[in-house]
Amino acid sequence: MSKIIAIANQKGGVGKTTTAINLSVGLALNGKKVLVIDADAQGSLTASLGLGEPNEMKYTLANIMVDVTEEKNIGKNGILTSDEGVDVVPANLNISSLEVQLVNVIGRESILKQYVSSFGNEYDYIIIDCSPSLGIITVNALACADSVLIPVQAAYLPIKGLQDLISTIGKVKRQLNPTLDFEGILITMVDNRTNYAKDIIKMLHDEYGQHIRIFDTVIPRSVRQEESSADGRSIYEYAKKSKVAQSYEAFVKEII
Ligand code: ADP
Ligand code: MG
Repeated sequence: MSKIIAIANQKGGVGKTTTAINLSVGLALNGKKVLVIDADAQGSLTASLGLGEPNEMKYTLANIMVDVTEEKNIGKNGILTSDEGVDVVPANLNISSLEVQLVNVIGRESILKQYVSSFGNEYDYIIIDCSPSLGIITVNALACADSVLIPVQAAYLPIKGLQDLISTIGKVKRQLNPTLDFEGILITMVDNRTNYAKDIIKMLHDEYGQHIRIFDTVIPRSVRQEESSADGRSIYEYAKKSKVAQSYEAFVKEII
């Protein structure tokens, strides 16, 4: 079976998309067959993988989700393949109007689940890059996932937002997806020179470490990563020897 991992945190700018890209490409480099789904209206995953301008794309996740509700046979329509060998369902602004469109649809929380189940065992991993919200598209992602990976930026006190996220995950687990699990917390954008980052890492371990796996690997803050996102390639292509590439490699090994 494919393992489905939703990457979620309703706070923006914590490294969800960066992690989705570097995890997906990292898994592919380890010989895994990977589909990554962009579930954010901003389409930054689509753009960062060098697949073109999201808002010029004609058939993206929003169209797919509507077609699923209309019981159309979609197959692999709309799936693009990145230069680095991962299959991608792109997204663009059309996702934002989808929330309203789906209000009266029966089973609107399970559309993505229906879609990914159509792939059977074709992929080893399906990675979903969620938007910074806990709206219906994120709920769809949580409802079809085996596990949730939570990137947390080590640069501010994340407690309150994390509790909202954990409570939403609990609700989805009780009502829609009883086998949903935590993949773990990945600490991102760590500036090792500051005590503040160390305090936050310790606080995360104290507060959540008993119930949620916190990955040993932490991702350092690095200007190479910022450049890589703008360049349309994963960090492995852009700056293979950088610390941030090595950290994502180590993180991928922890996931496999
Ligand atoms: P999210 O998807 O949670 O909104 P992103 O992955 O888009 O977050 O990251 C937000 C910004 O931070 C992007 O500009 C990205 O290039 C940058 N970024 C991500 N990870 C790092 C890192 N380890 N070091 C420096 N910048 C990073
Ligand atoms: Mg993002």
